[in-house]
Amino acid sequence: MAHGSIRVGRVEVVALCDAVVASSSPGSGSYPNVDEHRWREARERHPEVFAGDGRWRFHIHQYAVRVDGRSFLLDTGVGPTSARAFGWSGVAGSLPSKLADVGVDPRSVELVLISHVHDDHIGWNVTDAGAPTFPNARYVIHRADWDLMANATDEDDREIFTTALEPLEHAGVLQLSEAAFAVTDELRLEHAPGHTPGHQVLAIDSGGDRALLCADLVNHPVQLLQPGLAGASDMDPVGANATRSAWLERIVREGRTVAPAHFAQPFGTIARDGGGYRWAPLAG
Ligand SMILES: [Zn+2]
Ligand SMILES: [Zn+2]
Repeated sequence: MAHGSIRVGRVEVVALCDAVVASSSPGSGSYPNVDEHRWREARERHPEVFAGDGRWRFHIHQYAVRVDGRSFLLDTGVGPTSARAFGWSGVAGSLPSKLADVGVDPRSVELVLISHVHDDHIGWNVTDAGAPTFPNARYVIHRADWDLMANATDEDDREIFTTALEPLEHAGVLQLSEAAFAVTDELRLEHAPGHTPGHQVLAIDSGGDRALLCADLVNHPVQLLQPGLAGASDMDPVGANATRSAWLERIVREGRTVAPAHFAQPFGTIARDGGGYRWAPLAG
């Protein structure tokens, strides 16, 4: 399924979808503190994120960003069957063919922007031989996430680091970002910590238009119905809630089009609705 594209001022944003995954447990496993009536509301408003048996069904999006003949890529998906994420997703990613479908040559990508180091965002970083999949790109990762993984003692995290991250350093293509990172005058990575310590989002401001490629700032529409709700995958729930609340307010105030990594639709808008927010997908 093609996921379409939008223009933000002079900038073209093309949605890519490496995989669609059904979680192994009900949504309530991933979002344990949601009121039951909120789940009912979410099922009515957003049936597309529920598998038939109540499990959470989520997409894994990446975004190609093109301006002035330059190409950038946000995130690299779950990756091939050899990647770490296949163990839990059971889905082989299709990013290479999705890139080909929209005319993005991996050799043309100048920067690969990594929103954070969870294994469904870095799966195609390198080939099975350990070479960068995007051979002419530098890979931008927030220093806090790099340090987290470089110092990890957990066996799974060690494997993710040695297979998907460390090869970038060895290849000399790693660039660590800090509080903010200017990709161009119109594209800016901003530190949005909590989900992981180095989680970052890509703000686009061009010709009076605004968007936010918000990665895992919000992962399930139920988090908009009941604000202040951390997910089980948020490493720092309190910090993630604070970051999410601040950005949701800013998204509404600034009228930003939003592109979440794991919603069923790659682009939409967010408006206030009672005590929460309402997601309105853009027609693809
Ligand atoms: Zn998708
Ligand atoms: Zn994540």
